[in-house]
Amino acid sequence: MNTLHVKTGDTVQVISGRSKGGKGKVVAVSPKEGQVIIEGVNLVTKHVKPKRQGETGGIVKAEGPVRACKVMLVCPKCGKAVRTGVRIDGDTKKRYCKKCNAEF
Ligand SMILES: [Zn+2]
Repeated sequence: MNTLHVKTGDTVQVISGRSKGGKGKVVAVSPKEGQVIIEGVNLVTKHVKPKRQGETGGIVKAEGPVRACKVMLVCPKCGKAVRTGVRIDGDTKKRYCKKCNAEF
């Protein structure tokens, strides 16, 4: 199974690309595509056509996917975009911040 270094609920920062500097919570990940959806980041405008008579079409903003390799995890403890390592503790894998050593 393919896993990404970030998961749903993580706060991440975009480090390169069009949405560079964008920061937000991961709302969805797709390991297969290597993409993540981040709340409020990489907003794309979608034109919506009215489906039924009487409905008005419009422009809807929605988050577009960002390549996972372009995002870094924001450490909940030191609040910085950091590199993370993985530590094996018995049967569980724990991620840790390479800056302040906090586990999460
Ligand atoms: Zn940290």
